[in-house]
Amino acid sequence: MTKRAEIAVVGAGAAGLFASIWAGRSLVDRRAGSVVAVDGASKLGAKILVAGGGRCNVTHHAVDESAYAGSSRNAIRNVLRRFDVARTVEFFHERGVELKREETGKLFPVSDDGQTVLQALLDAARSAGAEVVHPWRVARIERTEHGFVLHRAALEPSSGSASMRVEGNRDDRLLARRVVLATGGKSLPKTGSDGLGFELAKALGHTITPRVFPALVPLTIPKDHWLTSLSGVTLPATLELRAPGGKRLASFTNSTLVTHFGLSGPSVLDMSRYYTDAKMIAAAGPPPVLVLNWLPGESLDAMDGALAAAGRARGTSVLRLLEGKLAERVVRAICTGAGVDPGASLGELPKEKRRVLAIALTEFPLPITGDRGYLFAEATAGGVPLAELKPDTMESRICPGLHICGELCDVDGRVGGFNFQWAWASGFVAGVGAATTSA
Ligand SMILES: Cc1cc2nc3c(=O)[nH]c(=O)nc-3n(C[C@H](O)[C@H](O)[C@H](O)COP(=O)(O)OP(=O)(O)OC[C@H]3O[C@@H](n4cnc5c(N)ncnc54)[C@H](O)[C@@H]3O)c2cc1C
Repeated sequence: MTKRAEIAVVGAGAAGLFASIWAGRSLVDRRAGSVVAVDGASKLGAKILVAGGGRCNVTHHAVDESAYAGSSRNAIRNVLRRFDVARTVEFFHERGVELKREETGKLFPVSDDGQTVLQALLDAARSAGAEVVHPWRVARIERTEHGFVLHRAALEPSSGSASMRVEGNRDDRLLARRVVLATGGKSLPKTGSDGLGFELAKALGHTITPRVFPALVPLTIPKDHWLTSLSGVTLPATLELRAPGGKRLASFTNSTLVTHFGLSGPSVLDMSRYYTDAKMIAAAGPPPVLVLNWLPGESLDAMDGALAAAGRARGTSVLRLLEGKLAERVVRAICTGAGVDPGASLGELPKEKRRVLAIALTEFPLPITGDRGYLFAEATAGGVPLAELKPDTMESRICPGLHICGELCDVDGRVGGFNFQWAWASGFVAGVGAATTSA
């Protein structure tokens, strides 16, 4: 069966639904079926539903380009400013979803339920005349002189995968004047965002950044490392990424969680993309170092001095010195790692050992072995460079008529609602752009 649309949106996640809504609202000659969004997943909006632990962290009260990485900050700002946080709040308010701001600056629906966000988006798409069709996975996009032909993926009965239960005919096609590609990245591939979008973009002439990797992902350490004995401990800490020469590349201070496999929590998730990127850039050369400060704000020299001063006060142990600053369990584990008796008088500690302990407390080099991969990543770093898109329409500079938005772009944000704000802003620009660009 061949379907026709003015605008075809590939992917009905956050960015694709937003693009569909605004394309529908912006079309001058709006008829049913003018905007058709297709999605390969049998269950729509999986990421919206799992986001924020099911509560969906829709945005952040203070969004600017400094919270993102990937393409140039200037290019990211140019898109973000076209649909800011106030407009996100207003949009959801109009659709009956009130957002509340939490202490961290994150905005959640007052319902604390991602389903209300997803339902509002689906209802808004319907009201805007956009049709959402699924499961309808695009296998190939062909550009012709009249527009685009989208070819539906064939049924693969042998795969056994739920996302491939496509009950369609091999010849299913969708013809459209313009296409918005909103297929997401590669994180949480079982939701349907498995990277095929990168291939679709490449086939239409785009480049994909040389490095594409999991972002906002927990980091791993050796199984038998003493740190794993602190599994379950959460505390505020500073993570600092250093180039082999010692230059500071990135730093995050936030809640840090030790787990049985390594480290997680906002500081680690935010840092993960910088660590992986620096490691990939270093390739076979000396690797970057990720150091952990268990006592944010405390410098190595100040700690060394404090340990020395405590040593002069007879009988003071490191356990006593750090009482009230760090949990006893944590101090004991750090001391074990540093080979120091936590209960012994600091006055008896040789200078070299004292330095080792000060380093373990304030600049502990983490033995990172890797990350937990796309299965556990909340975002994807890398994608289509924004330099290949026009910021006022997200239209391709390479393939006219094609617009690209969302996580498929080379933009990834910090933890806290920044990735959805990128999806809303870039989806809005792409949707309006596709509906209002002539020729
Ligand atoms: C566990 C988890 C929690 C998160 N929590 C938050 C949070 O609280 N706040 C926040 O801001 N961000 C969060 N994120 C990140 C956020 O969900 C994403 O950045 C955002 O969903 C990206 O939107 P998108 O529309 O670009 O891509 P996606 O949401 O990935 O949607 C892409 C859609 O395209 C479809 N698709 C892919 N390929 C094809 C194809 N070939 N044909 C047809 N359809 C296709 C997929 O099925 C999917 O539905 C979280 C992510 C994860 C994994």
